Amino acid sequence: MHRPIHAHIDLSALKNNLRVVQRATTSRVMAVIKANAYGHGLMRVAEALRNADGFALLNVQDAIALRDAEYRQTILLLEGFFSPEELPLFAEYELTTVIHSHQQLAWLDAYPRKNGLSVWLKINSGMNRLGFMPAEVPAVMERLKSHRAVREVTLMTHFAQADEAVGVSNQLDVFNQIAANYHAPRSLANSATVLSHPQAHGDWVRPGIMLYGSSPFADVSAKELGLQPVMNLSSQLISVRDLRAGDTVGYGASFRAEHSMRIGTVACGYADGYPRHAPTGTPILVNGQRTRTLGRVSMDMLAVDLSDVSDAKVGSRVVIWGEGMPVDEVAHAAGTIGYELLCALTQRVPVSY
Ligand SMILES: *Cc1c(COP(=O)(O)O)cnc(C)c1O
Repeated sequence: MHRPIHAHIDLSALKNNLRVVQRATTSRVMAVIKANAYGHGLMRVAEALRNADGFALLNVQDAIALRDAEYRQTILLLEGFFSPEELPLFAEYELTTVIHSHQQLAWLDAYPRKNGLSVWLKINSGMNRLGFMPAEVPAVMERLKSHRAVREVTLMTHFAQADEAVGVSNQLDVFNQIAANYHAPRSLANSATVLSHPQAHGDWVRPGIMLYGSSPFADVSAKELGLQPVMNLSSQLISVRDLRAGDTVGYGASFRAEHSMRIGTVACGYADGYPRHAPTGTPILVNGQRTRTLGRVSMDMLAVDLSDVSDAKVGSRVVIWGEGMPVDEVAHAAGTIGYELLCALTQRVPVSY
């Protein structure tokens, strides 16, 4: 018997979530599969999402792996090329590049090949992370349109607050004003925008988190959005014990029992990707029953309250997140977001599909 922690990736849930995207928009869908498909496994996720019109990621070697596996869709590198040496790979494998900086433009100018490259020009409409300022766009567009290596240009931007009440209108105005000057396809929408700002869908939407069954919003659950959890992280109790009043649990003795109680030890810790800063009270399922974590998370283990889980024993199933225990609730309790927890699953956790 192996250590009982295990992640099961539900590919039919992934397909369901893609259909939720497709029902929400008439735009082409570029599935965002960066960060090893948000921790779910790049190639298996791509296979389940093969109906998507394109894929977006960060690493050119991952993009080449997709081409080698015969995916013919648009494959977009969200940060573009990181050195001039990468440019021939974009041509050879017909990869689409974001261009967001003058440095990349200079590398492109020095690139000897003719035509072929499809470019997404990133406009900084207010997030101030990547992209050209709106006032720079006319000159950059001229340069790209007359560039011997460039075949087509799509205009893109990214929203900072699509998931919040203020929404996208300021950035959308900035983007639309500049984009109105060109007959170029447009791409603006992350998951939150797909779900709540149909006026900003453009020609290509770029959903990530919603495909994996986590909500992009702090105040709307994935279930309410029709999304199903894709990653089911489970383990077992490997020890059960009784505490007396005053006993403490774990490193730093940060939890102290007020009265006698039963607790269990779960084979899951921060070296598996569980957030170490999750406080006492973070929700978790034991034997299908909701309970809470106790004390500090260790590298390989964490403690749970079994006071109300009368049938719990060594070997009882523990759902850390997934079906019945939304990752967004665990994330909220730990002061983070579902994205971070999903991406943080570590190499040592066995994964099945
Ligand atoms: C990660 C990313 C997305 C996907 O965002 P979600 O919130 O996961 O839907 C879309 N566009 C860009 C540029 C990104 O970096």
